[in-house]
Amino acid sequence: MSDIYIRTTGHAGHITLNRPAALNALTYDMVRAIDVALRDWANDPNVALVLIDASGDKAFCAGGDIADLYATGRSGDFTYGQGFWRDEYQLNALIAGFSKPIVTFLQGFTMGGGVGVGCHASHRIVCDSSRIAMPECGIGLVPDVGGSMLLAHVPGRLGEYLGLTTDRMGPGDAILAGFADHFIPQDSWEELRATLCAEGDISAVLSAEHPAPKAALSEHMDMISALFAGEGLNDICTNLRAENTELAEKSLKSIARNSPLAMACAVEMIHRLRGISEMKRALELEYRFTYRAMEHGDFLEGIRAAIIDKDRTPKWKHALDKVPPVDVSFMLRPLGKEKLTFEEESTGMQIGFIGLGNMGGPMAANLAAAGHTVRGFDVAGTSAQGVSNVESAVEAATGADVLITMLPNGDILRSVADEVIPAMNAGAVLLDCSTVDVESARAVAEQAVAAGVHALDAPVSGGIGGASGGTLTFMVGGGEDGFNKALPLFEIMGQKSVHCGPSGNGQAAKICNNMILGVTMIATCESFALADKLGLDRQKMFDVVSTSSGYSWSMNAYCPAPGVGPTSPADNDYQPGFAADLMLKDLKLAQKAAIDANADTPMGAMAQALYAQFVEDEDGSGKDFSAMLPRFEKNGRP
Ligand code: NAD
Repeated sequence: MSDIYIRTTGHAGHITLNRPAALNALTYDMVRAIDVALRDWANDPNVALVLIDASGDKAFCAGGDIADLYATGRSGDFTYGQGFWRDEYQLNALIAGFSKPIVTFLQGFTMGGGVGVGCHASHRIVCDSSRIAMPECGIGLVPDVGGSMLLAHVPGRLGEYLGLTTDRMGPGDAILAGFADHFIPQDSWEELRATLCAEGDISAVLSAEHPAPKAALSEHMDMISALFAGEGLNDICTNLRAENTELAEKSLKSIARNSPLAMACAVEMIHRLRGISEMKRALELEYRFTYRAMEHGDFLEGIRAAIIDKDRTPKWKHALDKVPPVDVSFMLRPLGKEKLTFEEESTGMQIGFIGLGNMGGPMAANLAAAGHTVRGFDVAGTSAQGVSNVESAVEAATGADVLITMLPNGDILRSVADEVIPAMNAGAVLLDCSTVDVESARAVAEQAVAAGVHALDAPVSGGIGGASGGTLTFMVGGGEDGFNKALPLFEIMGQKSVHCGPSGNGQAAKICNNMILGVTMIATCESFALADKLGLDRQKMFDVVSTSSGYSWSMNAYCPAPGVGPTSPADNDYQPGFAADLMLKDLKLAQKAAIDANADTPMGAMAQALYAQFVEDEDGSGKDFSAMLPRFEKNGRP
């Protein structure tokens, strides 16, 4: 008997997953067959809607069939898995955006790959036996098949809870969490299917609907949101350990079984996807992880322990709260040419790039490597790999879909904008990634918009390493249309882009963030210097502060004391990751903005004065901005 049964009945295209003995686990062939059927039916006028159901009582589909993935991965062939996930995710996107109603009947287990087929349909039906879960972290994968997007949209922090604990949702919980829509007792499904096929009218689903059972999780929502808050997996573990409740203990026990790397990445993904509604973005992000999962993640070990040897004692790569942020960044960094794309997307844009310096050069090279045509210009004559140099800024701008600028300051940006905007096509995007004053960003945007050009101010954080690694964060101001057009480029050059509102808001976010950074770095450095003088060991100080109310990024992630905390420029003789000179530039921009906006920023002003003294009058120029620590060490009170 075939593993999948595909036919049209009356007005319906009908797919039945038919491997009940294997809980209808999805094979590569089944993925391909569903894909072909849906594409046929999309254009078939006799098909008004699609039904997807499954044989047997135990499961709609308990996941992807991992036997072949494991066998090929163990033999060192990662391409089979990469191909499977790529095609599976493309199918998930097809289901999510399908032009006709799709009704799914989700009895028993719907997990992992089953969620990808069952839970992106327009009408998702559950019954008493339904148990829906995203259990991937248990085998070293992140919640995928578009599940990360569903989790990101669940109310409160329930998404983090479901993704990390892999808890199973009953019908009420599944509806609460947005994995299902309608509760209909299973004994009336046969009749409903017959009506849908005969009439081709989706309203029959609503007529058959019953009130949903109570969502068990709804009682714990507040507690879950408090426990699963925080920046990452470590914060969640800290919260769970600190709370002496049954829920916290049970959650911690579940989490302790799962892959720490997968969970840390899952939290990061859920955070990034919150507020984003395009399923393809989630799938593209998931694919970054799964593409690397066999070679660099815990996937093969997870399958070995759970399915092959069944010893249930996986040797994960990391301890529970010891996943370095750099490993999360690595798993989620863009894939360049291997990026997951979708059929209707055009991959090649015409891009102009002005300013091929320390940052612009590698950013332009990453865009070229991802298949875009990039024409670059820099007054200094610099170039970048894969970029064709042109003679002028106007030449780079002419015919560009997106023109990117990465320049030293606002005055230069304004003069380049005067030149290039008249040469740009209406509807093109002027994307300035430089750090400049808010006023210049808004003036340039006004000029561009008047010429029919979308304008975005998108300063970055992440430094030169982020520019070459494609892991920058973009803080973006400007209109929604321009943002959406530039989004595929942000995803190549960076790992995160946040749309902060209208023009100038990207620069506003950048300078506010960096004002906090400048102030906290100074406070961290002067505290270490004080601790020295009080005879407090630096490591002890780190151990206390990094887990107490004085913690900050400056202390925890970029500790200015050599040999203490994670590796940072302090361990490399303060060679700059982020130079004190650039911090001074940003603090000056923040003070300028504060004066213009009549905002009282005494700490920012003090930080600017100290960095000015350090860079202009002392030996700080060319050093990392955390080199304030040796400065304070040397100085006594003024
Ligand atoms: P950079 O000096 O290395 O690069 C700027 C480039 O612009 C230079 O190559 C210069 O020749 C070119 N340029 C200047 N005027 C030009 C003009 N009229 N036409 C064409 N090209 C011109 O500086 P960078 O480090 O690449 O920084 C660029 C921007 O990114 C700055 O605004 C900076 O504040 C910001 N930024 C830098 C970092 C970092 O770590 N370097 C981090 C975040 C943000």
